[in-house]
Amino acid sequence: MIRLRRAVLPAATAERLRDYTDDIRQHATEKERKDRAKELWESRRRVRPALLRGLAEMAPGHERCMYCGDGQGTDIDHFEPKSLAPLRTFDWLNHLLACSFCNSNQKRNLFPTEADGSPLLVDPTAEDPLDHLRLVLPLGVYRGLTARGRACIEVFGLNARAVLVKGRVDAYATARHSIELWRIAMDKGQRDKATEIVRVAWNRPLIDVLEAMFHQSGHPAADALFAGEEETLDLLRDSELRTAFLHFRGVSY
Ligand SMILES: [Zn+2]
Repeated sequence: MIRLRRAVLPAATAERLRDYTDDIRQHATEKERKDRAKELWESRRRVRPALLRGLAEMAPGHERCMYCGDGQGTDIDHFEPKSLAPLRTFDWLNHLLACSFCNSNQKRNLFPTEADGSPLLVDPTAEDPLDHLRLVLPLGVYRGLTARGRACIEVFGLNARAVLVKGRVDAYATARHSIELWRIAMDKGQRDKATEIVRVAWNRPLIDVLEAMFHQSGHPAADALFAGEEETLDLLRDSELRTAFLHFRGVSY
């Protein structure tokens, strides 16, 4: 999971979402609201293309899932399930793009909360998941830094799905190659090639790995986190390289 910036919807779509929400609100009981929300979500398909376009614009890489970063994002997931919060069924701030595996096999209607009712899962459009998760880069596994990070690992199966763990190990190797090749291209004065390397690097699946590399290389404990991989850390600390990669992503660490 990586930090994402929410797109702005076309005004006509936003207005339609408000109308649907008003419709649900007019029903008196929670049961009626849930039933109406379900019915409207299944029948009012006109808003879906615009929602999917907005989500695709925000998604990592080429429309990857906002939870696992690997599968193609095909489903509009309700971060807060509509069965628990019917009034958020048509709330744009509650929509995320998920692969069908994350949506149907992992998250389903799970929405663990703190004792005070606040969500345990991290919404990547509202805060940086890497404040709650650390990626052990050579192993491809996440460690939860907080209860919320641990909830994400559990609910999305971030470590339990072997394809994700093996994929991250390979993504780490590929990302290391990208930063090495970028440095070589720049040293040779091949700026266009360097720009292409940056673009392709961020468009691959599992770019949470590249994001974690930059995030963790800026951490006070970076020397320990990259023990045995000093060359990689030196490159990640190269200010020219950091600027080129992070400017493209629109983040700073
Ligand atoms: Zn997924």
